[in-house]
Amino acid sequence: MGEQKVQALLVSSPANVRYLSGYTGSNGLILLLAGEAHFFTDPRYALQVSRGITCKVHIAKGPLIEEVAKLIKRKKLKKIGFEPGAMRYEDYAKLKDELPLGASLIPAGRVIEELRSIKSPAEIDGIRKSVQVNSEGYARTIKRVRVGVREQDIAAELDFQMRVLGAEKPAFETIVAAGVRSALPHAHPTSHRLAASELLLIDVGATVGGYTSDMTRVSVAGEPSKRVRELYRAVLDAQLAALDAVKSGVEARKVDGAAREVLKRHKLERAFVHSTGHGLGLEIHEMPRVARKEKSKLRAGMVITIEPGAYIDELGGVRIEDTVLVTEKGCEVLTPTTKEFVVL
Ligand code: ZN
Ligand code: ZN
Repeated sequence: MGEQKVQALLVSSPANVRYLSGYTGSNGLILLLAGEAHFFTDPRYALQVSRGITCKVHIAKGPLIEEVAKLIKRKKLKKIGFEPGAMRYEDYAKLKDELPLGASLIPAGRVIEELRSIKSPAEIDGIRKSVQVNSEGYARTIKRVRVGVREQDIAAELDFQMRVLGAEKPAFETIVAAGVRSALPHAHPTSHRLAASELLLIDVGATVGGYTSDMTRVSVAGEPSKRVRELYRAVLDAQLAALDAVKSGVEARKVDGAAREVLKRHKLERAFVHSTGHGLGLEIHEMPRVARKEKSKLRAGMVITIEPGAYIDELGGVRIEDTVLVTEKGCEVLTPTTKEFVVL
C-alpha cells in the first residue's frame, strides 16, 4: 500500500477476496488497512464467516459498499485504492458519491494478483489434486470414445467423470472439437459426430477445492495422414522446447519464443494464433502471461500452462497443453497424461 501511496485497498475481485480470507461466497468485499482487515458480507453468510475468517467482520443489511463508505468516513481515510479490473462501476460511483471532501479513489492495479502468482505449498498441493482429477477424468472418458459419438457427449462425460472424482465444477467450459472444427482454438462442443480418421481436440480443466487445472490433448480416430502426423510432431516439439525454456528468472517471452521458433522451422508460425501459456490457480487465467512481448520473469512457485498449437483451415488443429510448476532449476510438469499421438 505504501508503494501505491494509498491508506487502504478495497478488494472486490471474488478470487482475491477468497485468496485473502478463504471466503467462498458470492457477496464479499475486503477493505485492507495498514495492520487490519475488514470483511463485508450480507446476512446469508453470517454463519460461514463467524467460523474461520480472521478479519473484522461487518454484516451489511443493504449494499456492502454503503458499509464500506461508513467505515472509510469513520477512519477518516483519504486515499483509497481500488481494483480497476474488478470493482463494479455502480459501486465505484456510489462510493465516490459518499466520500468526504478531499478523499479520493485511486486505481491500484493488480496488487493481489501479483501476490497470487507465486503459489504457497498448500496451493501447489491444491493444484496437484486438481490436475489428478482432470487427467483421471480424461483417461476414463477417452477410453470410451468411439467413432460416431457426438462432441457434446464427450464433453458431458468429461464433466461427469471429473465431478465423480471430486471436482466441484469444470475450470472452464470444456472444449471438444473434432475434425476440421479442431482448427477453431476455442470451439464449443456441438452435435457433430466423430468420424473415422478425424482429429479430436479436447481442452479440459477441473476445479477442485477452488484450484484449477488445464490440459489439452489431441487424438485421432484411426490412422492419421502423413501431414497430420507431421503437424502433431511439430506442435509436440514446440511444446517440449517451451518446457525446456521454463526456469525461475527467465523472461516469460523467452518461453513463448522457444515454442514459436520450433513452429517457424516447420513453417507453422502463422498457424500459431495465440500465446504459449498463462498462470492459473484460483482462476483459470492468472498472472503471468506467457506471451510474445511479456518481459516479466518467471519465478519458482508460479504455476503456468504451456500450450502451443497450430491450426490449419480445412485440415484441423493440434494444441498440446500441460499444467507446469516453475522451479529454481527448471520446471515440473504436473500433468501426467501421455503426449503420444493416441490413435483411438
Ligand atoms: Zn486449456
Ligand atoms: Zn490454457
